[in-house]
Order: sequence, then structure tokens, then C-alpha cells
Amino acid sequence: MQSMVRWRTPTVQFDDPFQVLIATVLSARTRDANTEKASRQLFARFPTPQTLGRARVRTIERLIKPAGFYRVKARHVKALSLQLMHDFQGVVPDSKELLMSLKGVGSKTAGCVLVYAFKKPAIPVDVHVHRVFNRLGILDTRFPEDTEGALESLVPRKRWLEVNHLSVLFGQTICLPRNPKCKECMLSAQCPHVISRTQ
Ligand code: SF4
Repeated sequence: MQSMVRWRTPTVQFDDPFQVLIATVLSARTRDANTEKASRQLFARFPTPQTLGRARVRTIERLIKPAGFYRVKARHVKALSLQLMHDFQGVVPDSKELLMSLKGVGSKTAGCVLVYAFKKPAIPVDVHVHRVFNRLGILDTRFPEDTEGALESLVPRKRWLEVNHLSVLFGQTICLPRNPKCKECMLSAQCPHVISRTQ
């Protein structure tokens, strides 16, 4: 099993809370390889809220271009940096409530920061987590927002740190969004999704 200090995937690693926060924002609607490239380029120039808050938006756009939606994301990460400086003296808070007081930071992003930067229990739910648990019939939820609460009720708190990492890895490698690799899946005997597909 991969170390829990890693951010989301075996290939991308950031430990610093600010960098986990920004990398998670950059990861929206893009592939991990693109997130990693954009994040590394950005942090090489602007590794802290102090430096990123002072950076020109045009420069940020150029550095994070691989992540897609780079104009919107550039303004967002600069605004986040300025808010961190103004409201938190440049220190990323380690509570979900305070994290979600940051503009544009929702439950999933806050959960990623808690889990991957602070090792605090949370279950960030993205499309992979949502899909995997619903396909397996463990949950019957319509939206990722519903899945988070359902998993918090279902999974013992001492295991919360593992849920996102393992589910995302499984969703990216076996239980793919389209054409899941059911023949390779060790859970296929119990999976209602594969059973319904073969009837
Ligand atoms: S059997 Fe197929 S659909 Fe079910 S969990 Fe495994 S990969 Fe996903």
C-alpha cells in the first residue's frame, strides 16, 4: 500500500499543507499527470502563500497551463493565497470548518488537505470514490456530496485516512469509468454491476 503522505496518487507527492491545497485546486477536471506538471512548475517559482499571493496572474497562468482551465484556476489560487495571508497569517488551517471558509474550497478539497497534509481523518469524495462504492452496491447515493456522509457513517473513523487513496487508485486502475476491468477485479464475484452486465 502506498504511503498516506502522498497526495492522491503514487506519482504525485506534496507534504506541505499549502501545496496540497493548491495542487488539489489545480487537479479539478484534469489528469493527475497534468496536475503534477502544473504544480511542480508553480511551486518551483511560488512555493508559499506569500510568494503566490504577490505573483502576477499572467505568470501563474503560464506556469499552470498544463492543468487546464488555467485562467480561472490562476485567479483562484492567487485569491486563496491572499485570503490565507489576510485571514490566517499564511498558515493553512487544519479544521474542515476553517478550510471551507476559504473561497472556493469545498468539502472534497478540505478533506484532501486534512488527509494528505495533516493526516487527520476525513473522507474526501471525488468521482472515483463515488463510482466505486455505488457500483459495488455498498452505497446507493446520487451525488458525491451524499456519498461523503454515507461513508462517514459506514466506515470506522480509524480507517477514514485510507478510503480516498485506495478508492481512487482502484477507480483509476481497475474500476474505470468506462469499460471497467471486471475480469481482473478481485471483487467481481460480489459486484452487482458486473453481474448485471453479464446477465
Ligand atoms: S467487478 Fe467491475 S464494476 Fe465491479 S468493482 Fe470490479 S471493476 Fe468495478
